[in-house]
Amino acid sequence: MPRKPIVGGNWKCNPKTLEEAQKLIGEWKNQVPLDKRKIDVFACPMMPHLLKVKLPMEKLGISACAQNCSKTGEGAFTGEVSAAQLKDARVQWTLLGHSERRTKYGETDEEVAEKVSQALAAGLKVVLAIGELLDEREASKTDEVNERMLKPVVAKVKEEDWSRIVIAYEPVWAIGTGKVATPEQAEETHAAIRAYMAKAVSEDVAEKVRIQYGGSVTVDNCAELIKKPNIDGFLVGGASLKASFMEIVQKSTPPPVLKKPKWSKITDLNPTTKGFNCMLKCTKAAAQVEGTEGVFEAVCGDDTGMCTVSFRNKDLCDICKEGASLRMQNAAVRMVKGGYMRLVVDKWSAFKPADEPVDFEVKTSNDVSSVEYELVDAWPD
Ligand code: PEP
Repeated sequence: MPRKPIVGGNWKCNPKTLEEAQKLIGEWKNQVPLDKRKIDVFACPMMPHLLKVKLPMEKLGISACAQNCSKTGEGAFTGEVSAAQLKDARVQWTLLGHSERRTKYGETDEEVAEKVSQALAAGLKVVLAIGELLDEREASKTDEVNERMLKPVVAKVKEEDWSRIVIAYEPVWAIGTGKVATPEQAEETHAAIRAYMAKAVSEDVAEKVRIQYGGSVTVDNCAELIKKPNIDGFLVGGASLKASFMEIVQKSTPPPVLKKPKWSKITDLNPTTKGFNCMLKCTKAAAQVEGTEGVFEAVCGDDTGMCTVSFRNKDLCDICKEGASLRMQNAAVRMVKGGYMRLVVDKWSAFKPADEPVDFEVKTSNDVSSVEYELVDAWPD
């Protein structure tokens, strides 16, 4: 089951006035409506604004998220807001452990874990931010730091409660600096966090927990990042204070998935095809494309023709062997310079062994990979 993407906006101590906050929500309203079935979206205004803009935000399908909550309950705790008070104010989410809380207000890993405990006990959902400082990355301590931050949380949270936690991996050197982690750097760290969760909690939780990337995410870099298999969305700071935040949401929304596949043939392909479903036989096993880092290609076909299939998930090479019968769902057509057509299998596509061996011979005389179409898109995208 693919994980549902989740994108959040952390407004921090912004904007200055309620009027500006309301204006921003108004601007979001004028954008394409978001599809709540496909993506979860939240925003974290500061507390007095949060309660004022909560309803207008919820009308757009955006959940209200606090930026923090107390590690203690109600009582003589001046300046604090308890998790139960947030819940009582109908706030469903809270962000916890943001690096600014950790570095500027001295929150320790244990205190963050205590807050997570309080929030879960009150029935809230939690966005748990973790991430390393620049010198920690330079000392190759990224995974060690993330594990150190997760460990006290793991010790306090019951396995079933992880369904109410989203991890936001935010390298501190990328927050508010305009210096975004490369998709490869982010993917590598997200995969390591997932591997730690498998070891420390369970395979099931590791598979299901959503991991957002945060750190200078913008409309321009989000599309590349969201393609990575372990990146499940974003925690956005500066760019969430703009109308174009909704473009980041749009770009993170999975493409349409056909529920009941209508099986098509290779000759049905055209340059704009999306959501393509086909039964295939592999005629040339998958191999890495020369000169690329992690782009794999195979040739597959049916009784109408053959096509080149590209993907970045190395594991697919294991099933994409010569002669293998394959079921492909929700692939898309891409073009490269020179009018070369290929099918692309991304993280929202299925490319699996067919339930039964296909009973056709591949029409090798008709290779649609090299059909001359007008250039519509460039690979890799
Ligand atoms: C953040 O504050 O969580 C954040 C990621 O900020 P920015 O997007 O501005 O780097």
